[in-house]
Amino acid sequence: MVNLLNLNQPQLADYFNSIGEKPFRAKQLMRWMHHFGVLDLDQMTDIAKVLREKLRQETEFKLPDVQLEQVSDDGTRKWLIGTNNLKDGTANSVETVFIPEDDRGTLCISSQVGCALECTFCSTGRQGFNRNLSVSEIIGQLWVANHSLRQAEGYNMLPASDRIISNVVMMGMGEPLANYDNVVTAMQIMLDDSAYGLSRRRVTLSTSGMVPAMDRLKEDCPVALAVSLHAPNDALRDEIVPINKKYPIKDLMAACERYLVKAPRDFVTFEYVMLDGVNDSIEHARQLLDVVRDVPCKFNLIPFNPFPNSGYGTSKPMQVRAFRDMLMQAGYVVTVRKTRGEDIDAACGQLAGKVLDKTRRTQRTIAIQPGE
Ligand code: SAH
Ligand code: SF4
Repeated sequence: MVNLLNLNQPQLADYFNSIGEKPFRAKQLMRWMHHFGVLDLDQMTDIAKVLREKLRQETEFKLPDVQLEQVSDDGTRKWLIGTNNLKDGTANSVETVFIPEDDRGTLCISSQVGCALECTFCSTGRQGFNRNLSVSEIIGQLWVANHSLRQAEGYNMLPASDRIISNVVMMGMGEPLANYDNVVTAMQIMLDDSAYGLSRRRVTLSTSGMVPAMDRLKEDCPVALAVSLHAPNDALRDEIVPINKKYPIKDLMAACERYLVKAPRDFVTFEYVMLDGVNDSIEHARQLLDVVRDVPCKFNLIPFNPFPNSGYGTSKPMQVRAFRDMLMQAGYVVTVRKTRGEDIDAACGQLAGKVLDKTRRTQRTIAIQPGE
């Protein structure tokens, strides 16, 4: 069975071609599945009955399972998306978060079950890695959120253009560029006018700095870029964002400059998690200004969101203000991210889901730090 939710429009056109149908069927089907959110062939009345019958036999619309939906006091919503229930009944799951604001609604999407990159302050990273999400599991998060928000707002078949979700950020669990092909295909569906029709400026991919994949992305699917910098020198970044040992800050900055040539926005957003006493001094801010010198950018300071046994503390508000002011005085736009959905553990870096760790990281960590 072909899962039609795994395909972007050109792939769908190829499929129709392969069964002797006209490629324009791809556009019709994209509109039903993604624009209107309809997955029932009987409702797709502009598709001939014979073809619908053929599709019923050869294809399916397989969405990821929603195990739980939670709503926070501040309106933030979180879905626990189950991926595969294994024989022993244990689930492997990821999380999707919707953050409503006055002028927009942002959906934060996951790309992997766990993450292999081991950033020390990240709860997903601590859990280890299980597997990549498929295209339908990635775009399915947008489908499911759209569907559930429409129902909550009392609309049924509202087209995706009257959107509640205006922005997507690839900032949930996982490193999106480590699941390159599936993430790019899913983002192409987000941008497709027959599907969700989001503008490139309203889709943001966040990466910890996988330089070669950043170079590919600017050619294949240039969307807004956020880079998780978190440290202003290689010694510290090697420690807290270990991928830095492979792609050090200088190479990362050069990749950002190259990206901007093709990017839909004229700046990169540098994310910087504020860790008490680790990376939050005025001297760190000074070094930071020096390393980003050649890259047009904005800063997003993220107060560290604690999780059990993290070993880190949240920077004091005074320290965050001093750090922010230092960057602002140098002429940069700086936002300090407000924590949303704390009561349902939906804040940045708290997304945990359930990861059946294939890397055995948890066991390794316990073996190394028996006292913790
Ligand atoms: N893997 C990608 C995207 C997912 S993480 C990346 O690293 O960019 C999204 C953002 O949340 C990243 O900037 C990440 O560093 C940050 N983050 C991770 N753990 C956090 C925590 N405990 N508190 C605050 N932010 C955190
Ligand atoms: Fe992975 Fe991003 Fe977490 Fe690092 S911060 S471990 S790259 S999800």
